[in-house]
Amino acid sequence: MLCMLLLTLGIAMLQAAPLKVASLHPLLSEMARSIGGEQVEVIDLFPANGDLHAFTPTGKALASAAGARLVLACGKGVEPYLADLKDSLSADSQIVEVGADVPNVRVPGTPYADPHWWNTPINMKRASRTLLTAMVEAAPEHTEQFNAGRADYAARMDNLTRTARLKLSRIPRDSRYLVTGHAAMCHFCAAFNLKPVSIQGVARESQGDPATLAALLADLRSKNVRCIFTEVNAAPRMLQVIADQLGVPTAPLVMDGIYPAAPGYEAMFNYNIDIICKHLGK
Ligand SMILES: [Zn+2]
Repeated sequence: MLCMLLLTLGIAMLQAAPLKVASLHPLLSEMARSIGGEQVEVIDLFPANGDLHAFTPTGKALASAAGARLVLACGKGVEPYLADLKDSLSADSQIVEVGADVPNVRVPGTPYADPHWWNTPINMKRASRTLLTAMVEAAPEHTEQFNAGRADYAARMDNLTRTARLKLSRIPRDSRYLVTGHAAMCHFCAAFNLKPVSIQGVARESQGDPATLAALLADLRSKNVRCIFTEVNAAPRMLQVIADQLGVPTAPLVMDGIYPAAPGYEAMFNYNIDIICKHLGK
């Protein structure tokens, strides 16, 4: 009788154990927590104020991820170290490229796809389905909780999309160039009918030589550019020089999804929307 009781108790405890997940991006951590609630334990591998394009998880971070059933990555080439990471994980850990099902958007004038898919809530909603599927497969005992969490998350993303569409629709037709340093807002521009112009490439690799700069200035002068958008964590001097030459202000956006000053997707996204409307609106 006691044995049966202990066995039942053991099974109940086993069933109640939250799914352990490790995450390579704070927005993916938030997404997993939103879906999983108390039925997920998320280990953050990305350091506060880290640089997404220079980050590689250290041995210490990986040790903290031991026992994680899922390791969440953005995908789309954001984490060039994924193959090595896979080799160093235990056999029961699975890497989930959460952005894998989001359609690609090309950086204009290049053959490359913009990897910064998280910059629209439309993509976040889509990616949350990919993550839901992986979480349900890993811990089917929590299916009900995960489905409900994902439904709430999707509704939050729909709400953001609606509000952003309304606010951005007030930007005049001839002021819709979104000029940025690195090519990180192409998904955003495609979703909200703006035109992306990037100065530095996908991973801020270009520092701009004088000839390129001159050609760029001529191009920007032919457009009705109202602002040069820098980043909260990167405002290269080259962008200030270009803004001064054009006689327009600079303003910082959050592009890599890393913004400890206003954690949470809603805060980050609304911050971007408000800054863009302030500088491109009437
Ligand atoms: Zn970036």
